[in-house]
Order: sequence, then structure tokens, then C-alpha cells
Amino acid sequence: MQKDWHLDSWRDFAAAQQPEYPDPKEVEAVLAELRQQPPLVFAGECRKLKAKLARVAAGEAFLLQGGDCAEQFSQNHAKIIREKLRILLQMAVVLTYGSLKPVVKVGRIAGQYAKPRSSPTERIGGVEMASYKGDSVNSFEPTPQERMPDPNRLLRAYHQSASTLNLLRAFTHGGYADLNMVNAWNLQFVKNSPLGLDYEDLATEIHRTLKFIEACGIDSRRFPQLNQVDLYTSHEGLLLGYESALTRCDSLTGDWYNVGAHMVWIGDRTRQLDGAHVEYFRGINNPIGLKVGPTTDGPTLVELIKVLNPENEAGRLVLITRFGAAKIEELLPPLIRVVKDNGFQVVWCCDPMHGNTYKADTGHKTRHFSDILQELTLFFAIHRQEGTVPGGVHFELTGANVTECLGGAADLKEEHLAESYETACDPRLNAAQSLEMAFKIAHMLRQ
Ligand code: PEP
Ligand code: MN
Repeated sequence: MQKDWHLDSWRDFAAAQQPEYPDPKEVEAVLAELRQQPPLVFAGECRKLKAKLARVAAGEAFLLQGGDCAEQFSQNHAKIIREKLRILLQMAVVLTYGSLKPVVKVGRIAGQYAKPRSSPTERIGGVEMASYKGDSVNSFEPTPQERMPDPNRLLRAYHQSASTLNLLRAFTHGGYADLNMVNAWNLQFVKNSPLGLDYEDLATEIHRTLKFIEACGIDSRRFPQLNQVDLYTSHEGLLLGYESALTRCDSLTGDWYNVGAHMVWIGDRTRQLDGAHVEYFRGINNPIGLKVGPTTDGPTLVELIKVLNPENEAGRLVLITRFGAAKIEELLPPLIRVVKDNGFQVVWCCDPMHGNTYKADTGHKTRHFSDILQELTLFFAIHRQEGTVPGGVHFELTGANVTECLGGAADLKEEHLAESYETACDPRLNAAQSLEMAFKIAHMLRQ
């Protein structure tokens, strides 16, 4: 166990972005109830994910992490969960073929309910109110009353995470992930896409490979490798009361694990070296992520890595870089070099979403497909140049046909944003844009 760490040691440090609840006693009662709840994941699963991420760090596997910016309680039905899983599975097949490596699949799902915000309040319709901080904190409804933080929402977040994960486990091991079926969805997509020809070669190759396997007598329905997948869960570990109430000592190893998700990450706004988040995260044994934004300097990153991964364990730490297409060339190479010079084992993962957000003339927060693709392209090129491993990608996406990000084969324009703008926080790639992105990455990986 890490020196001087205990489950509540974070309480001695300043915690950014925590809700201010009207009644602290009520919060304590909720946290006491959460401490009694069963784990959502097992420590052994977290260790398995860590081992897979160690392979990613070594360049022997590829990481795909994706899902909503903010999950919503009202969006918890089977169809929506199934569509999110489906798009991740479709992308994973394309990426597996492109990289010829196992793809480690991690959802921003079953717990992604808390959001850090740049401003604690916002003005809507002339009324000043608390910003929406995710369904586990307050309601998206724009009234001062609904925006009051309510600790009971933490319990609902736990229960909805449990039911989401339960369904995901059923789908991923009950036949829904069969490779032939996922491939059939991809062929359908290519047939319908306006830029289908660009993707057809790869889709046809994958299809022929599967037919070849079948012709050799291998029936996907009889092989778990071909009809089941492991999907891991992740979310930003923002609300430290909630996260520590779901942190348990593993009876097998005596180590502490966050049992609310397989992987949790520290956001770009809460990675202060002397802050409560870093203190909490250093003591848990899950694989963890660290968002690395434009204000991260080399010396700070080195200190953060030493605190968060003192044993330099491979698979423990995923650096999720989010600089923006315009800044990545200037900001990523020096950080890669400092990590390399120190001999740190990390997974480098590209989040091409959060550095490319802007406000459209219509007032919607959006991102352009071409900026996202440009940041990814540069991420792969820079790592190739530096001789390091571009380990994975991190997307905000959904399986539905939303109109939140611009561009893509359907060439979504600003005037289309209002048609189906459903996110409660940041704009997500829709199903077609997500799969297109996977095809583009697969082409890059094959070069
Ligand atoms: C997010 O991933 O939704 C997020 C808030 O990212 P970041 O911490 O990188 O800004
Ligand atoms: Mn976001």
C-alpha cells in the first residue's frame, strides 16, 4: 500500500469541483448506505484490465475507450445501452483488423454521471443558477431549484450503474457480440454511407477473412473468442465521497480497489499535485487515467507520474492527451520525451474531443469531424516520429443518430445541429461518424 495513504486521507487536501450540498448530514447518510452496497466490479477484473493495458503500453494491443460525455438517468433503457455497445463493438472489429492486435474495449459507461464545469454557475433565460454537474449531482432542468445538488442522486447513480453493467455483461457474453453479426452491421453501414467506397476495401477484407475462417470449419457460435467480448467500464472519478464509499479492500491481495468501475480517470481540472483527487487515486490499485491538457508542463507531469505510479507498473497509468488539433504538435512531443527520458511505462491515449470544442453560431457546443481526425492523425505521426507507442483512442460518442458534431460523410452543418442535439454536456460523435472514425484510424494503423 502507498505510504501514508488511507481511505479518507484525501479529506486532508483541497478537493476541486465538489458539490456544495445544503445538508452535510444527509450526504453522510447516503455515503454510509453506499458503503453497504455490493461491488459493481471485482478486483480480479481490474487486474485483468491492467494486464491488458500493459500489453497496450508495449505496443501489443490497442485501447478503445468511448461513450457519453455524461450519462443520463433518463437514457438508461435497453435500446440506448445496446446501441452504445453495438457501436463500440463495430469500431473494435475495424480497429482489430487495422492494427492486427487485440483491442481492449473500455466504455465511458455504467458510472459516467459526474461532470466538472469551468464555471460553477450559468445564466439561462436571464436567471442565474448552478451549472449542471451531471445526473449524480443535480438535474439538467434549468431552474435554480432543480440545479440544487441532491445527495440522493448518488444512490441512484450507483443503482443505474449496476443495472447498466448487468445488461452489458449479458449482451457481451450472451451472443450479441458475435463477430459475424458485428461484421454484418459494418457491411450494412458501408452500403449506406455516402462515402461507402472509401471503407469498402477494408470491410470486404474483413468479411472475406471471416468467410475463410468459417470455411475452415470454425463456427463462431461455438468459440467464445468469436462470440464474446470483455467490455470494461470507466468514468471520471470526480466525486470523492462517492468514489471512496465504493473503494474496498480486496480480500485476496489486501489492496484497495475502486469497485464502482474497472478504470477511473482524473480530469484535466482536478489533477492538482497537492489536491485531493491525486491523493485518493494514488492509493487505489485499479488502472487509472490522467487527462493531460494544454496547461500540463513537463516537470508537473513527471511528479504526477511518480506519485500515481511509483512502482512504474505497466498498465497502471493511461495518459489521455487532449490538446486540440492546433496545439498537439507543439505540446505533445516535449511530454513524450520527458516520459521517455524517465523510463516511465505509460499508455499514451489520444482524446481528440476535448481540445476541439467550440461554440457554433447557433449557440451549440460542437466539434468538427475534421479537427478530431486531424488531432488523431498528428497523434499517430508524432508517436511514429518519437519511436513511442500510440496506444489508444478516447471518444465521446453514442450509438444514436444525433446531430452534435459537425462534418463526417453526411457532412453535418451548423444548421443541422438543432435537429437532434441531445447531449447533456459535450457533443458526441453519432454512430456513423464513430464508425467512419474507426475506418480512418484502421487505415492509419496499416500504413
Ligand atoms: C471529459 O472527459 O468529459 C472531460 C471533462 O474531460 P477533460 O477533463 O479532459 O476536460
Ligand atoms: Mn466531455
